[in-house]
Amino acid sequence: MASYDVIVIGAGPGGYVSAIRAAQLGLKTACVEGRETLGGTCLNVGCIPSKALLHATHQLHEAEHNFAAMGLKGKSPSVDWNQMQAYKGDVIGQNTKGIEFLFKKNKVDWIKGWATIPEAGKVKVGDEVHEAKNIIIASGSEVATLPGVTIDEEIVVSSTGALSLPKIPKKMVVIGAGVIGLELGSVYKRLGAEVTVVEYMDAITPGQDAEVARAFQKLLQKQGLNFVLGAAVQGVETTKSKAKVTYKLKKDDSEHTLDADVVLVATGRKPFTDGLGLAALGVEMTDRGQIKTNAHWQTNVPGIYAIGDVITGPMLAHKAEDEGMAAAEVIAGKHGHVNYGVIPGVIYTHPEVGSVGATEEQLKAEGRAYKVGKFSFMGNGRAKANFAADGFVKLLADKETDRILGCHIIGPMAGDLIHEICVAMEFGASAEDIALTCHAHPTYSEAVREAALACGDGAIHA
Ligand SMILES: Cc1cc2nc3c(=O)[nH]c(=O)nc-3n(C[C@H](O)[C@H](O)[C@H](O)COP(=O)(O)OP(=O)(O)OC[C@H]3O[C@@H](n4cnc5c(N)ncnc54)[C@H](O)[C@@H]3O)c2cc1C
Repeated sequence: MASYDVIVIGAGPGGYVSAIRAAQLGLKTACVEGRETLGGTCLNVGCIPSKALLHATHQLHEAEHNFAAMGLKGKSPSVDWNQMQAYKGDVIGQNTKGIEFLFKKNKVDWIKGWATIPEAGKVKVGDEVHEAKNIIIASGSEVATLPGVTIDEEIVVSSTGALSLPKIPKKMVVIGAGVIGLELGSVYKRLGAEVTVVEYMDAITPGQDAEVARAFQKLLQKQGLNFVLGAAVQGVETTKSKAKVTYKLKKDDSEHTLDADVVLVATGRKPFTDGLGLAALGVEMTDRGQIKTNAHWQTNVPGIYAIGDVITGPMLAHKAEDEGMAAAEVIAGKHGHVNYGVIPGVIYTHPEVGSVGATEEQLKAEGRAYKVGKFSFMGNGRAKANFAADGFVKLLADKETDRILGCHIIGPMAGDLIHEICVAMEFGASAEDIALTCHAHPTYSEAVREAALACGDGAIHA
């Protein structure tokens, strides 16, 4: 039996980051992972593989649509799907091996296997029971499906199946117009599939600033994605190689069907706590199956903490990482903190969408007096040169104090640009602070500054 200060259960971005930080703070730490490789959903079947496919297919899009205009003539590349899958596998391997290296470097013990918590202070893996003064549960999430829809990972697939399809489908139906559905839908559209996205709500990316969501939908439609909004999927029937999706339009209750070679179910994820033994321990849960925690990521059972997708809040890798670091700091007697008001959200399509803070709809609902500074990438020289002038930056600031309340960007590198505003918000900055900061020319970042200028006396290039 080994004895630890901290045992982390799960080596996703929440768990592995937490384990590394705990070890860096001088705590004897182990991390238990049931998968064969480290990195959790994110590195194995989530963020990283999806971004590899998005990158590869974006290159294809550039070659097909923009190369000739720049004088780069010749045949567009053909797609070798097996090689693209191999590239994706290689990227996953490099990343998961990287975590193994970091564990060794920081002296985190990797305990292989599935963990149960027989009692507070003990973690059982296989026949071994390890002692832990503190346990951090970072067991993540799993795919959630819909009534009437059975995922077989061949014809009806989750995101995991969609990342590794044996061949590119001719027709794909995506159920759910959230981040994962739109990213993977874009991948297969760029590879030549006819893609239709069916969404229950009347807008795509529910929760997004509505103006950005509308612009995003138009741009995706221009790229050839089809949308059926306000549609409740009733069920999916499959034959050996095809599927039929039945949905009802909410506006008139009319029933319709769509044929597909592959149906991607992208209706969300749910917390994963199977096998941990939480009910027997008396760990309190929310009615959505999440582990309940206080502001210090402590559950109601002393010595047991929880972080990441398995607790409340946005299911995002960087939110899990931040909670992981903060929980380790709390255990080490420091002041771990996460500012939930400044957690960016990014959609890695092309153009990208990056947002942080309040949406205009939220500010209206709160009755806040606010101002909007907007700037189109059409006025940005770099974006024009790079065939990336679709989209805009929308900055929201307090009408009286000018303090930044939120920012929503649709455009090139939006996922990187948004961090200027994240930092500004952490420092309680005003729109004027951004407007008075010199931004290098020609960069996409100038569009952020112009939106800030538009909150004051006006943008220059609008
Ligand atoms: C297709 C896809 C794309 C995504 N893209 C992004 C993105 O671009 N950006 C972003 O921020 N987020 C993205 N996400 C979400 C992101 O992957 C999750 O928010 C993140 O992985 C959550 O981290 P976590 O550490 O809480 O859990 P997870 O990453 O789910 O890791 C939990 C780990 O715990 C292990 N585990 C569970 N129970 C036990 C047990 N009892 N014993 C041992 N091990 C156990 C699991 O095997 C798993 O490896 C994406 C998700 C998907 C599915």
